[in-house]
Amino acid sequence: MEWSSEVEALLATLRESAKREAVGAIERLIEDGVARDLCRINALAFAAARGLNEEDVIAAFLHASRLGIFELSWNVLCPGCGGVLETNPTLKTVHESAYTCSLCAAGYEPSLDEMVEVTFTVSPRVRRIAAHDPGTLPVWEYYRQIFWGSGLDLPTDKQFQELVDRIVLDSVDLAPGDKAILSLQLPAEFLIIFDPVIHMAQFVDVKGEPTRERRNNLVRNGQRARALGNHATRSRPDSPYFGKPN
Ligand SMILES: [Zn+2]
Repeated sequence: MEWSSEVEALLATLRESAKREAVGAIERLIEDGVARDLCRINALAFAAARGLNEEDVIAAFLHASRLGIFELSWNVLCPGCGGVLETNPTLKTVHESAYTCSLCAAGYEPSLDEMVEVTFTVSPRVRRIAAHDPGTLPVWEYYRQIFWGSGLDLPTDKQFQELVDRIVLDSVDLAPGDKAILSLQLPAEFLIIFDPVIHMAQFVDVKGEPTRERRNNLVRNGQRARALGNHATRSRPDSPYFGKPN
């Protein structure tokens, strides 16, 4: 790849300030990596996958972030589902107050060891990736790149799709202001309606005799409204899914 002169200058500075092998691996990633791999990089996993020294890799990513090659983020994670509850550019903005995961319906006090991870995402000035504009990601890629933290070892695309097909009844991507109508025959099970963008969860315990009659269950949340039944009508969730717990 031909770097722009700005990026070349940044990389030249990085080569002077960090270990050669680590910088080489980072350069190769920026050049050849798939976009997904440039979003929320976990430095430890990056080092392990390449047989590199952890300290060298962490130092190289920290230098690269100071130079503006990567954007460093402190992510508060839900210990239950592994979802990112909040991202912060600095540790100072990670508040001590409890974080609540709507999916796991539990509040957590952030502890640095268990709930906060540091990740590195390539800067748009170095390489533009879809995750810079998360709204453009297809729903399951959104889960992979934005919803879950970097520590999750997610299955391959094929296995992941099989899992999604097994547990998800339906999903829809909506742009802000969009509306959609979903018609679903719900099984008599405990179901979750979940929106990974605002982390909103609604639990539905489907019981009783099967009916062909339309059933609606409308919930409003700020500008959002959603209804659920044998025929469901909702508006404004960004990309929720109807799913059952595995
Ligand atoms: Zn959770």
